[in-house]
Amino acid sequence: MTKYSTIVPVYNEEKTLAELYRRVSAVMDRLDGPVELILINDGSRDRTLPILRDLHEKDPRICYLSFARNFGHQIAVTAGLNFARGQVVIILDADLQDPPELIPDLIEKWRQGYQVVYAQRTQRRQEGWFKRFMAYAFYRILNRLADIDIPTDTGDFCLMDRQVVDILNAMPERNRYLRGLRAWVGFAQTSIPFERDPRFAGEVKYTFRKSLALAINGLVSFSKVPLRISTYVGLLSAFMALVMAALVLYWRLSEIRSPLTGYATIAIAIFFLGAVQLVSIGILGEYIGRIYEEVKGRPLYTLAEVGGFSPSSRS
Ligand code: UDP
Ligand code: MG
Repeated sequence: MTKYSTIVPVYNEEKTLAELYRRVSAVMDRLDGPVELILINDGSRDRTLPILRDLHEKDPRICYLSFARNFGHQIAVTAGLNFARGQVVIILDADLQDPPELIPDLIEKWRQGYQVVYAQRTQRRQEGWFKRFMAYAFYRILNRLADIDIPTDTGDFCLMDRQVVDILNAMPERNRYLRGLRAWVGFAQTSIPFERDPRFAGEVKYTFRKSLALAINGLVSFSKVPLRISTYVGLLSAFMALVMAALVLYWRLSEIRSPLTGYATIAIAIFFLGAVQLVSIGILGEYIGRIYEEVKGRPLYTLAEVGGFSPSSRS
C-alpha cells in the first residue's frame, strides 16, 4: 500500500520537470515506505505531456493525469487528491518554489499527530513588489473577513492525512479554494516556516487575472461580509437622506437661502448612488454566479490521458 503521495500540478513546465524529478526523487528515496508522485498536466501546450510519459516509463513510482484542456491550478490539485492513494498526501508546485527537501519535516510533524501540516512563507524572494504587496494585503483582508481562520501567507504547499483528503474529496464544491477548504476541515493543524525560493525556470503561470480570480474566489467562498456591505451603505445613505430632508425643511421655513443648489450637487448625488447600486448588484452577481456554477453540476475536469492508474484505482 502506498504510504506517501506527492501531487504536483503542471502547466507548461517543460523546463522544470527534469530538475523537479531529480529533487523529488532524491527525497522520495529516503522516505520509509512506498511512494507515488502524481503529476497532473493541466492542458499544457508545450512538451510537458511527452516528458511526463517518459518519466512514467522510466520510474514506475510516477503516475500522471492529463486534462483535456487547462482547468486551472486548484482543479489540477483536486484531481490529484481524487487519485492519490497514499496514507499521507503532499501538495507541491512544479516550479520548485516550494522546496521538496522540506517534505521530511512535514512528515515528521505528521508523525507527531498532526493531520494537516502547511508550509508558511516567511519570505518571497525575487517576486515583484506588486505581487508581494497584493499577496500581503489579500491574506490579511481575507483573514479579517472570512468566517474561518485561514492562516496568512500559506499556499497550497502542505501535507494532509488520508482522513482530511477523504473529506476534501467528498466536497462537491466547484469553486475550490483549497487553502480555505483545508482550514475549514479542522483537525490538528500546524505550520512550518519556509523561505519561498525563486522559480526554477520558465514564467509564472498565474497571470494577474488568474490570481485575482483566485482571490475573489477565496473571499466569496469563505465570507458573506461583501453581501452585507451594500446593506450598510444603503442604511448610511438612507440616514443621510433623512438628515438632508430635515435640513432642507429647516432652510425653507427659516427663509435662509439653501446652500444646496445647482445641478452639480444633484449630478454628484445621482452618480454616487448609481455607483453604489451597481457595485452592490455586482457583488450579488458574484454570489449568484457561484450558485449557478454549483447547480450545473458539471464534472470538475475532463481527463484525456492517464498513466499509472488502473481504472479501479480512483478513490
Ligand atoms: N499551474 C497549473 N495550472 C494553471 C496555472 C498554474 O497547474 O493554470 C501550476 C504551475 O505549473 C505550478 C503551480 O500551478 O506548478 C503554481 O503556478 P505558478 O508558479 O505559476 O504560480 P505562483 O504560485 O508561483 O504564483
Ligand atoms: Mg510559482
